[in-house]
Amino acid sequence: MKVGYFDGRLAIERGGKYVELEELIDWRCSCDACDRMIEAIKRWPEVCGAAENAQSSQFRDVAPEPGPIVAPLRSPNKIIGAPANYLEHIKEMGAVKTVADLGVFLKAPTAIVGPGACVELPYSDRRTDHEGELAVVIGRQGRHIDRSVALDYVFGYTCLLDITVRGSEERSTRKSFDTFCPIGPWIVTADEVGDPGALGIRTWVNDELRQDGNTADLIFGVPELIAFASEIMTLSPGDVIATGTPSGVGPLVHGDSVAVEIERIGRLEVSVSAARAVEFEKAVATRSRTA
Ligand code: MN
Repeated sequence: MKVGYFDGRLAIERGGKYVELEELIDWRCSCDACDRMIEAIKRWPEVCGAAENAQSSQFRDVAPEPGPIVAPLRSPNKIIGAPANYLEHIKEMGAVKTVADLGVFLKAPTAIVGPGACVELPYSDRRTDHEGELAVVIGRQGRHIDRSVALDYVFGYTCLLDITVRGSEERSTRKSFDTFCPIGPWIVTADEVGDPGALGIRTWVNDELRQDGNTADLIFGVPELIAFASEIMTLSPGDVIATGTPSGVGPLVHGDSVAVEIERIGRLEVSVSAARAVEFEKAVATRSRTA
């Protein structure tokens, strides 16, 4: 099933109808700051049981427009990224190292935005690229997870754009600008997706198909990434792993519309703006360099 924000409400969707999670279970916390999706992931068996028992009158039709515009996850503990995880992408970057050599990186959770949001280009004179990626959402806590059981730790999957400024700074710097992590439109639970290593993944900029790959070509597949990352850090419910991007990355410019579509998961589309872009040498982060 799909879990996400439908008509602005955290809900489970099935067959074009949704039921709000608030109607299914009592929340332990009513604060606005906590991420209720993470709470729902932690209490998933209870949520599922309640959904099974829900009356049909509790299900509502999903409005055809404008669709969910809130990111399904807003404050995961961490976003783990896999650099250089498709051979053809490594070739196009003129690189030789793979994820096995580079290890994983962290991307700031504050970069998250939802479907229909606007990616803000930070610099007017630096290249900023789209990287369409399959994102794994972790379902339960674990460390030193063996690859043979790694998929048991997956809650579900969603689409992710790992927006990236090209250059020599650390990846966490170039990939962590606010708005640089569109995710969504919802999370599809693992049982519905099946094998995460056989999913077509395409990225468009406007009407141009820029990336056309398949997760079968991942160097580290989803089980290997979970095993690799959990050797370093504890994985927690709601953590996101961006699995890497196929070849075809390219620059974004003001006014672009960028969309990533993954088989059996969905289509995530955002716009791009350079309205707040500044020249790199005039940026605060650059001036501080010589201060
Ligand atoms: Mn990436």
